Amino acid sequence: MTILVKDATIVTMNRDKPLIKHGYAFVKDGQFEQVTEGDPSAEWLSKAERVISAKGKWMLPGLVNTHGHTGMALLRGHSDDLPLHRWLEEKMWPFEAKQDQKAVKAGRALALVEMIQSGTTTFLEMYHLFMDDFAEMIEKVGMRATLMRSMIGLCSKEEQETKLKEAVSFAKTWHKQANGRIQTMLAPHAPYTCPPPFISRIVEEAKQLDLPVHMHLAETKKEVDDHRQQYGFHPLEHLEQINVLSAVPWLFAHGVHMPKREIERLSLYDTAISYNPKSNLKLGSGIAPIHDMHEKGITIGFGTDSVASNNTLDLFEEMRLGNLVQKGINQDSTLMPAALTLEFATINGAKALRFADIGEINIGQQADFILLDADKAHLQPDIHVQSHLVYAAKGSDVTDVYVQGKPLMEQSTLLTLDEEKIRFEAKEQYQRICKLT
Ligand SMILES: [Zn+2]
Repeated sequence: MTILVKDATIVTMNRDKPLIKHGYAFVKDGQFEQVTEGDPSAEWLSKAERVISAKGKWMLPGLVNTHGHTGMALLRGHSDDLPLHRWLEEKMWPFEAKQDQKAVKAGRALALVEMIQSGTTTFLEMYHLFMDDFAEMIEKVGMRATLMRSMIGLCSKEEQETKLKEAVSFAKTWHKQANGRIQTMLAPHAPYTCPPPFISRIVEEAKQLDLPVHMHLAETKKEVDDHRQQYGFHPLEHLEQINVLSAVPWLFAHGVHMPKREIERLSLYDTAISYNPKSNLKLGSGIAPIHDMHEKGITIGFGTDSVASNNTLDLFEEMRLGNLVQKGINQDSTLMPAALTLEFATINGAKALRFADIGEINIGQQADFILLDADKAHLQPDIHVQSHLVYAAKGSDVTDVYVQGKPLMEQSTLLTLDEEKIRFEAKEQYQRICKLT
């Protein structure tokens, strides 16, 4: 299928030419064959099987969500206003222990609807249940994802090995599948839930498979204090001590409690950080030193975490809040300019997830893109596009979503998911699980 998008204002995320005020893009075999200014010639028009007018719309790369747990999507609003450790142990884990295949599937479908509707085309899923089902669902729906069967190591060695076997088998089966739209990683849940020898085992397997490792890190002060008390190190320094930091590429979620020395350490290795400002604020965990990490050259992408601690998957909210709190805590309004914030949500997020050819609208890149309705009152005067995208736009401004040149949403209608049915089932499954004892 060839597609021509014309009359478009294109946010390319290409540093040489970040904005094309009036241009067009030609998509062939899921990739951009042309992206340029002006109007398409008769030749381009004749080559296109579909012509889309983007008049009054802004075109930008699909957004990238670098950390989440869609398997927890039914838990939106299930528990608020508790400290993280109590929230996890008393509310999340007991509900999750009751979730079966149907419930997890219903939640995930709901999460996909929400992500597509708010312009996310690529996301990361770290979860332990029914990952094969989910990979199949994503393959059908048409999104792009980095998937992993996450592991908690607070169990016997035999159980640890069983989990690892499952995780490895899943990673091998699905890596680079769905026409390259699915990639995998291995994922120890966190340093406080995985003893060091288990983390070493996981990294050993990841190295053999040539896969990155994803893990929660330094999310709360308590976690870091407890780790220091138990082992004598900050969790990151501990990973260095057991020689796993240099063994594979890492993507850490959160990194809220990172003293200067640890940021320095992070910069010495092949690492990236998933910045989850809303989840970190809601759980009272703090604000990650993102400005300092960025200054040290660390790759940073935005993550939402799950809707149990966010409570939306709208990356426009994440961008705006994540930007504003950095200015606030550093008392410096010049930090994290809009263009950089957009990089975190697109090209840098793609880098963090190790997708080489998404995050930009450029010739040769995968055609993952979204269109926003720029005619809304809160986007006027519609001159300062990058500024509006960060400081004014909402996920609900997104009207069209494409992945690999295939439409997933057109003029606000989802094409590969039945939204009404999914909303109904999500509520039904949540109520069913709540009643189980
Ligand atoms: Zn998380």
